[in-house]
Amino acid sequence: MSDASVKYLLDERDIPTHWVNLLPDLPGEPLPPLNPGTLEPAGPDDLSAIFPMALIAQEVSGERDIEIPEQVRDVYRSWRPSPLFRARRLERALDTPARIYYKYEGGSPAGSHKPNTAVAQAFANAQAGIEKLSTETGAGQWGSALAQACALFGLECEVFMVGSSYDQKPYRRSLMQTWGATVHRSPSDLTQAGTAQAEHATGSLGIAISEAVEVAARDPRCNYSLGSVLNHVLLHQTVIGQEAIKQMEMAGDEPDVVIGCVGGGSNFAGIAFPFVRRVLAGDARTRFLAAEPAACPTLTRGVYAYDFGDTAGMTPLMPMYTLGHNFVPPPVHAGGLRYHGDAPMLCGLVRAGIVEARAFGQNETFAAAVAFARAEGILPAPEPAHAIRAAIDEAEAAKLAGEERVILFNLCGHGHFDLSAYDAYLAGELEDPEFSEAEREHALATLPSAPAIS
Ligand SMILES: *Cc1c(COP(=O)(O)O)cnc(C)c1O
Repeated sequence: MSDASVKYLLDERDIPTHWVNLLPDLPGEPLPPLNPGTLEPAGPDDLSAIFPMALIAQEVSGERDIEIPEQVRDVYRSWRPSPLFRARRLERALDTPARIYYKYEGGSPAGSHKPNTAVAQAFANAQAGIEKLSTETGAGQWGSALAQACALFGLECEVFMVGSSYDQKPYRRSLMQTWGATVHRSPSDLTQAGTAQAEHATGSLGIAISEAVEVAARDPRCNYSLGSVLNHVLLHQTVIGQEAIKQMEMAGDEPDVVIGCVGGGSNFAGIAFPFVRRVLAGDARTRFLAAEPAACPTLTRGVYAYDFGDTAGMTPLMPMYTLGHNFVPPPVHAGGLRYHGDAPMLCGLVRAGIVEARAFGQNETFAAAVAFARAEGILPAPEPAHAIRAAIDEAEAAKLAGEERVILFNLCGHGHFDLSAYDAYLAGELEDPEFSEAEREHALATLPSAPAIS
């Protein structure tokens, strides 16, 4: 046996004690969310009907490090610290001089990074005396994470699941129900937002968010919970990158490029933001690469503008790269990446040139996932398969350039509930939908009126 390590493990006492809040480090003044009625900055009052004060405080906090409640760290112990792997077999298969590392978040109960924030959010709501949470879910990963977190803290959980995923992934629904959640196919006939969108039978995250927000807004016992996009969600995910910094030190390496897939931006922020802090401080020169689907190319083809977070226009306006809140992305298998916008904090970093973005087609993404599974064993979810595609491209570029590039990516979830997608790929039946110029014009024609941003 060689002594070349393939995994770097931390102890439970190395679970971070604080989350990394990048908000005060960001260049320039942060653009506030706006109340859509007045176009004035949205304040705590705009949010308090559906979020607890503790999370609102995190959303706007100027503190650089925010303490993780002991009860949340206690739950994190079940699967954190997560392992960091060196992909030695993949490196050999690619015959690349690059060194490839990945942080694996698929070992959590729900099988993705989502429990890192689900637990923090359920805890904050339970502390505030809330009895129920409503939410949306795309591929089902967020709904399962929140269902389990609600069960841990004694909350009811009601989930609106995007129609195409509800049909493709029945066992994600079973998982949510096993943890005690109620699950509806979205668009449903239980809300005005769902009824109004009945013609979009495949659904979208934007529609499901409108349904869940409506349920929370009309029930004082119930709050709403979002699995991505918002500042406090990105904050909770920074345990990933903090652990990765320690593990890369154990490996004696420093990443040249950090890669994550982007749906709303939370797993990307989770691995990248602790490294971004070092770059903003002038202590490192790491590159950052966000990988998104060509069918929903928010960062690479969207416009930077104020837009709603949901389809019905119930949320505050957020400054972000958007394809328009009316855009209903084609039902690609990476359901978690079918969102018209992205986290404002991540968009600001793309705008500032600190994060690069690339879009990938469905087939090239699955080709990368299969190559990875054959070399490394783990079957990736279709979402992080985009990060793997980007990592393999970086490793091949390093080979062409004859460089020893160090690549770190976030393997943010396993694909055990996505085998119908693998079946379709292996049978040669996957399509490669692209976002057309006509769709772009149509989607952008309906942006809400708001101040332009530069
Ligand atoms: C939810 C999810 C995503 C997309 O959301 P982000 O906020 O961009 O991370 C990607 N991968 C997996 C496995 C997910 O569960």
